[in-house]
Amino acid sequence: MKILVVNAGSSSLKYQFIDSVSGIAYAKGICERIGGQGSLIEHKQLVKGLKVKVESPMKDHADAMKLVVKHLTDAEVGCISSMSEIEAIGHRVVHGGTYFSKSILMTEDVLAKLELCKDFAPLHTVAHIMGIKGCLEAMPDTPQVLVFDTAFHQTMAPEAYMYALPYEYYEKYGIRRFGMHGTSHRYVSAEMAKLLNKPVEETKIVTCHIGNGSSISAVKGGKVVDTSMGFTPLAGIEMGTRCGDIDPAIVPFIMEKENLSPAQVNDVMNKKSGFIGISGFSSDSRDLESVIEEGESNPNFERANLAVNILKHQIKKFIGAYTAAMNGLDAIVFTAGIGENNPHLREIVCEDMEFFGVEFDKAANAAANHPSEAVKLSKETSKVAVYVIPTNEELVIAQDTAAIVSAL
Ligand code: ADP
Repeated sequence: MKILVVNAGSSSLKYQFIDSVSGIAYAKGICERIGGQGSLIEHKQLVKGLKVKVESPMKDHADAMKLVVKHLTDAEVGCISSMSEIEAIGHRVVHGGTYFSKSILMTEDVLAKLELCKDFAPLHTVAHIMGIKGCLEAMPDTPQVLVFDTAFHQTMAPEAYMYALPYEYYEKYGIRRFGMHGTSHRYVSAEMAKLLNKPVEETKIVTCHIGNGSSISAVKGGKVVDTSMGFTPLAGIEMGTRCGDIDPAIVPFIMEKENLSPAQVNDVMNKKSGFIGISGFSSDSRDLESVIEEGESNPNFERANLAVNILKHQIKKFIGAYTAAMNGLDAIVFTAGIGENNPHLREIVCEDMEFFGVEFDKAANAAANHPSEAVKLSKETSKVAVYVIPTNEELVIAQDTAAIVSAL
């Protein structure tokens, strides 16, 4: 089935047109600065290898969707002859709150429930609703399906998702661990399970989605038992600009010392911490790596190295904790921007892990940079397999959408 996968942000809309069976992506692109000055669409026809970038006014997400359809059906840069070839639309939705535990067909009721998710992820949810309404206006007869980043984590037991705060905060505000990047963890853990020669029910996998935002999950028998992100995507390991887990008492301490409001301290933890906070010069792992490669002669070396070593140490700790929580470990998977493209980080995480049964193949790791398919990074004799697996959230969204729509 041919599916249009949509990822709507507040002023942007990313899309991919994909065959849910073959997995072939025919086209992809992004509409930017929707509702603002100089809005533009960047469209790529992936089969012919064509790319166009056109400035075009888009007052809202409906205009953006009309422009996407125009490009998909364009005689030159398109890949279909008419809109009717778009059989369904699958939306990436960041937060399903306590309301959604699996992908679902969009209806008026579902949209009303999605409104309630604004409590958990206000900016994202508003953007998703605009994207869904934009699709409704541009393609009123095309079924839409919502696929939630939080859904795969819904299998966690209360002991993993509850915080030891007064219980009434859970009841009143729904404060609990939700986890994020679920679609990515689901894809790479399923791919990993296929590579392990045993029934899925018996597999124990730690998936490391390391990008600008990062999270680690423990997936036992195909189900998440724990994940590092929490009530919000701020929790867990160090990220590009986010601090990850810190002692919660630091928050009121800094607020008092620096005279910061809740919004300001939130900003510090979300936008001024992590790689950028520690290194003092960049949130991008490529910049840190090039300074580290230069060595101590570079004045930024020490703090760039510290930023990366903090991340390494934290990933190791999560792998250890999750191995204990699952009572075993079959495989570690690296994915996302850094996980797929940064051999140095993978090496420093996986060295000195013989105790866990990891025998790391440094040469295979060094060669696996930006791989297009799964690559094994552990030796044949290693008790625990280590892999890099490129994530494919769009394919999962397309497959879920096709499954729901074909059952209608
Ligand atoms: P997001 O969480 O925004 O989806 P990504 O998964 O794209 O982010 O990850 C962004 C991070 O991945 C950046 O730190 C960047 O340096 C790194 N990264 C992305 N592509 C490459 C690449 N080709 N080589 C090295 N690092 C990369």
